[in-house]
Amino acid sequence: MRGVRPGEQQVIVDRVACTAHGVCAVVSNGAVELDEFGYPVQSRITLTRAEAHPLVQQCPARALILARHQ
Ligand code: SF4
Repeated sequence: MRGVRPGEQQVIVDRVACTAHGVCAVVSNGAVELDEFGYPVQSRITLTRAEAHPLVQQCPARALILARHQ
């Protein structure tokens, strides 16, 4: 996994909270890949900040968390 570049934001998937709505795959235009049960394959997704914030807000289970970067 590469580091986070300026202007990017990592989003963490809370696999316990996730209820497999699949909204994240649609909102992220495919950046989030879903498995056959509808759960995200990745545990962390790197996006632009402009993409990451709306993605987190639209998860109906609040299962997406903005990572804190040092
Ligand atoms: S939108 Fe949220 S609840 Fe639905 S699959 Fe993605 S992370 Fe899970």
